[in-house]
Amino acid sequence: MAPRPSAGAARASGRPGKPAAGSQQARLFERLGLRTPADFIVHLPLRYEDETRVTPVAQARPGAHALFEGDIIDSDIRLRPRRELQATLSDDTGRMQLRWLHVYPGQQARLKPGRRVRIRGEVRMGYQGLEMVHPLVSEPGMPLPDTLTPVYPTTQGLSQASLRKAIAQALDQADLRDTLPDAVRQSYGLADFETSLRLLHHPGPDISLDSLAEHEHPAWRRIKFDELLAQQLALADARASRRAQHSLPLRGDGQLGRLLLAALPFSPTAAQNRAMADIQADLRCAHPMHRLLQGDVGSGKTLVAAWAAAQAIDAGAQVAVMAPTEILAEQLWRKFSEWFEPLGVSIAWLTGALPAARRRQALQDIASGQARLAVGTQALIQDKVQFQALGLVISDEQHRFGVGQRLALSRKGDQATHVPHQLSMSATPIPRTLAMAFFADMDVSVLDELPPGRTPVRTRLFSDQRRDEVLMRAAAAVREGQQAYWVCPLVEESEALQLQTAVDTWEHLRAELPDLRIGLMHGRLAAQEKTDTMAAFRRNELDLLVSTTVIEVGVDVPNASLMIIEHAERFGLAQLHQLRGRVGRGARESTCVLLYQPPLSALARERLRALYETTDGFEIAQRDLAQRGPGELLGVRQSGQALLRFADLNADEDLLEQARAAANWLSADFPDHARAHQQRWMAGAIQYLRS
Ligand code: ADP
Ligand code: MG
Repeated sequence: MAPRPSAGAARASGRPGKPAAGSQQARLFERLGLRTPADFIVHLPLRYEDETRVTPVAQARPGAHALFEGDIIDSDIRLRPRRELQATLSDDTGRMQLRWLHVYPGQQARLKPGRRVRIRGEVRMGYQGLEMVHPLVSEPGMPLPDTLTPVYPTTQGLSQASLRKAIAQALDQADLRDTLPDAVRQSYGLADFETSLRLLHHPGPDISLDSLAEHEHPAWRRIKFDELLAQQLALADARASRRAQHSLPLRGDGQLGRLLLAALPFSPTAAQNRAMADIQADLRCAHPMHRLLQGDVGSGKTLVAAWAAAQAIDAGAQVAVMAPTEILAEQLWRKFSEWFEPLGVSIAWLTGALPAARRRQALQDIASGQARLAVGTQALIQDKVQFQALGLVISDEQHRFGVGQRLALSRKGDQATHVPHQLSMSATPIPRTLAMAFFADMDVSVLDELPPGRTPVRTRLFSDQRRDEVLMRAAAAVREGQQAYWVCPLVEESEALQLQTAVDTWEHLRAELPDLRIGLMHGRLAAQEKTDTMAAFRRNELDLLVSTTVIEVGVDVPNASLMIIEHAERFGLAQLHQLRGRVGRGARESTCVLLYQPPLSALARERLRALYETTDGFEIAQRDLAQRGPGELLGVRQSGQALLRFADLNADEDLLEQARAAANWLSADFPDHARAHQQRWMAGAIQYLRS
């Protein structure tokens, strides 16, 4: 029988246990994302304590949580070195010291010599042998639990006892019916939901703690499968609702695109041609395109984007092109102007930093349709910007946009009648598992080859102690006509400090190399200064550009062939790869020098080695995923939401495949089950995918 989602939903609106809405405890639960019984039941233990049996004192081991029972043979308040209550517990096998640093009234009486007690807590090695600090005391003779005691993830001010109670209540109240039809369960060899869940909350003492800790127990497998399945169903939904939306089919005669390509000094790569064909097919549909154009740094995404814009303009639509930073937006604007203005296409330029009069003019051109193309930063998606006929939205480095911004963007255009097509570009190569898990609602085109004639960047590692030598060699290269980036160390803790470092470095380098023209670039410069500096560097009026990571993505100055990165050990792998991608864009052989401060941590060593060993962005992304997890790679770390709580995209690739297949099966044959399943798992984390 199919579960009845409505019944589940009705129950889900009630709160578990007593905490009334708005109470302090409810707020603490809320902080953990716990609102409905469905939330509570999948709040799963981090680990367990074994209180199912009494451990003889002689078997106590440091680090273990255990339960002991014995007699108090002495107890005393000590005043030195500070006030504390000490007692000695003894059973037939040995003795152990107990200590309480805060002494409550009545506590000493409870621990009078001669009393028999049960003591629970963590054993540790103290000065006088094994001891327990602040153990819990209970009366002997109470029946012992017959399952392991769960320890849940919690938040400050919320005790394990309250969590355990609320979760136990939720387990009684919540709808635990299996949302998977038997056929699906059997086909993937999955355990039953309720059994799995109860086992994970209260495992019997015979269950291997390792298999629980490693999330390998069949019960864990079932929960991870369910989590992934919910995510796949949500993605399938997003895809379906996109199909239900209407867009203007963009069917021009392709003349503008042909002219664009004909004017280039090169021809598109095969990969670019494939991507353009994908895009053309999408744009001709009456449903919105939602395509991700993925390609390693330097693979030529901008041209594909421009060609897509040409198709849309040719068909009578307007196109919005946006980038996450001023520098990138400006660069796109220049490229698009260079390509389109000779073809008679007028372009509006819109950023937050524009003077009022120019801004007004730009807005007017966009609204009247005089501008067929609008290029800019996030300013493009503000409510005041009205398009005459927006048909296509292109966003560069889209993973850097916040979720909210992406949402606002997709709502632009005339929702009532049509939704604009969307093309997103990303230079963060997304490993396959990640793409399946988070971008399954998008179609993907991959630029898997670089334009011909590029020589791979050579990567060199130098300890900081050789900084002077590196500096001299860099200066020599620059004097021979090369241009170089000097990237300042990342200072995670403080933006101000980061800025200061950049300014200091700039001043030092100018003092050390007075014959060179050295520029400075950082995020806090006024927009005009940034523009001027970038332009000067591009025109080869600067030899060396000292910069923070603002040049990390997308900056394209083909004559720059040398990059020095200071304190490379502080950067993430993907970030270093992005930075390195700023060189190696011209015909000259390029070099990237990574200066590091020894001693390196094992992780930092791994990162630098990976960078040294490969220039393949996909390989690097895969290693980054393994090192840091998906949040970082997708740039959603700031959202503070775990993307997946239980499944691990590296370890659970097979489960992900199965969940994806199962999602299709459920959607097609068991829609009621699919709905019930999503209802159970509907977490905030999934919402953002709909943007
Ligand atoms: P990314 O994919 O990193 O955004 P860009 O679009 O900035 O790469 O392209 C990198 C450089 O390669 C640019 O200078 C661009 O003009 C050039 N380029 C793009 N496509 C080709 C091609 N098919 N042949 C030669 N050069 C190309
Ligand atoms: Mg780019």
